[in-house]
Order: sequence, then C-alpha cells, then structure tokens
Amino acid sequence: MTATIIDGKAFAAKVRGQVADHVARLKGQGITPGLAVVLVGEDPASAVYVKNKGIQTKEAGMASFEHRLPAETSEADLLAVIDRLNADPAVHGILVQLPLPGHLNADLVINAIDPSKDVDGFHISNVGLLGTGQKSMVPCTPLGCLMMLRDHLGDLSGLNAVVVGRSNIVGKPMAQLLLGDSCTVTIAHSRTRDLAAVCRGADILVAAVGRPEMITADFIKPGATVIDVGINRIERDGKKKLVGDVDFTSAAKVAGAITPVPGGVGPMTIACLLANTVTACCRANGLSEPEGLTA
Ligand code: NDP
Repeated sequence: MTATIIDGKAFAAKVRGQVADHVARLKGQGITPGLAVVLVGEDPASAVYVKNKGIQTKEAGMASFEHRLPAETSEADLLAVIDRLNADPAVHGILVQLPLPGHLNADLVINAIDPSKDVDGFHISNVGLLGTGQKSMVPCTPLGCLMMLRDHLGDLSGLNAVVVGRSNIVGKPMAQLLLGDSCTVTIAHSRTRDLAAVCRGADILVAAVGRPEMITADFIKPGATVIDVGINRIERDGKKKLVGDVDFTSAAKVAGAITPVPGGVGPMTIACLLANTVTACCRANGLSEPEGLTA
C-alpha cells in the first residue's frame, strides 16, 4: 500500500482563505478582528513564529499587534500588558509566545488572559470547557489535526484513535477532541507497555512525541490514517533536516493516509490561530461563528 499524502500546506491555505472571507464580511459590518502576540525575550525560533503569525494575520485582513518585551521583563510588567490587552476592544485574541524565560510562571501568565480572548486555548477555563464538551477556545495544533481528519475521513464516530503523547498543548486536547467526535481513544506515553501493539490497534494514529522518526511501519495498522505532529531538527549526511515523529518512508508503505513533515500539521497551526481569532471576534460581537472553523 502507498499512503495518500494529506497536504497540510494546501489545506491550511484553504482555511486561511475561509478566514479571510469571514474577516471581509466582518469588516463590512465595521468590525476588524485583532490578534495581539506577546513575545518575551529573544528566543530565535519564537521570533520566527511570531513574525510568521504577524504576516499571516495581516494577509487575512486582520489587525496584528506585536508586543516584544525584553527577556528580563518582570511578571508584574507582563501581567500589566495582558491586563491592557484584555481591556482593549480592538484585541479579540491574545497569544503569549511560549516558552517564557525561566523566571516567569507560564501558568500564572496564561491564566491572566481573558478566557474569551485566549486563542491558544491554554487557559484553565478553556481546558475545563473542552474537557466537559462545552464551547471553548480549542488549542490550535490539535484543532488543525481534527480538521484534517474530518476532511479526509468524514465521520470519525466509532474509529479507534491512539494519541501518542500526553502534553497539555497537544496530546490531551487532541484526545478530548477525538472523544468529542465519538472515537474510542487511547492516550499512550513514555510508560506505555508495548507501544507498537497499542498503536497497531489504531484507525487514527496521532504522534505527538518529539522523538525523530520513532513511529515506524510496524506501529501502523494497514490503511490507518497517521497524523504526525512532531517537529524535530536533525542532521543527516551533513545536512540539517526537519523530520516528524513518524518514519515517513516506511510508514507510508502501510498507512492509508499520512501527513508529511514539513507540510502537514505545521501550517495548520497558524491557520487555526487565525480561525480562533475570528471565532473569538464573532463571539465578542454576538455574531454567529464561522462554520467549519471550530471544533
Ligand atoms: P512534550 O515533550 O510536552 O510531550 C511529549 C509526550 O511524548 C509526553 O507525553 C511523553 O510522555 C511522550 N513520550 C516521550 N517519549 C516517548 C516514548 N519513547 N514513547 C512514548 N511516548 C513518549 O511535547 P509536545 O506535546 O509539546 O510536542 C510533541 C511534538 O510535537 C514535538 O516534536 C513538538 O515540536 C511538536 N509540536 C508541533 C506543533 C506544530 O505546530 N506542528 C505544535 C506543538 C508541538 P510522558 O508524559 O510520559 O513523558
């Protein structure tokens, strides 16, 4: 079997197009969705993400506000910035770029964001709402995975899903979303016994581990849909390379469909951030939410 490649780049472009259409409609009613991104410190990878977020926010027609603060910013000063953004009616989404410098308490900072503007979906209120099946802001990466799965498979009800990884930002919300779509969900992690056998039971396998090419063909049920969230920078044959948590070459011979790295889940994350900002803006203005852009 040779797997169908799920083209995240093309799908993300489609989602961004839908977002831009909604933004145009909102602007017609005198409303411009706004996204504020707060970056503390000089982490080069974070700086690249923030720059890309700003570019794509503007391309979608939204207002982009960037707050770059020095690495030594105190917690009180950062909280004051968040308070101002919470109170600013032009800002519908707030994202604090993680990781934060070590002296700042990330949980405290994230929980200071107004939950209705928490477009990353990390605020404890949104985590609770998602966990209890209520309307929430959904973390962008798992939302992007869910959109791709629905697009590729249609109804997910009754399918066996295995999520490898139990982080708060990917693994756990991914499992909640799949449960919400009536999958039978298993969450695997570093203590899971016979991981390959657990994964072979999956119709949907989501890898969010952070270990380069760990999931090989023998982990995959023939015909399964494989979503590779991993982003790992490695060096091979003297060249720097980006690979996922799945060994793409061997996995693609067994899977029914698979996302590549790069060009799979990655582009969907920013597209879903824009989608969440539009959703937050619609909710703030008492308008109906964009269809197909939320969980
Ligand atoms: P974390 O490090 O927070 O979590 C990794 C999870 O994998 C943990 O639950 C850990 O288990 C589990 N794990 C580690 N080793 C093994 C193993 N040998 N067998 C089984 N499970 C294992 O990572 P994140 O969730 O933040 O990210 C995961 C990956 O996704 C990374 O490569 C990251 O770069 C990528 N990512 C990609 C995004 C995108 O936009 N595409 C966005 C966010 C992340 P335990 O809990 O037991 O330690």
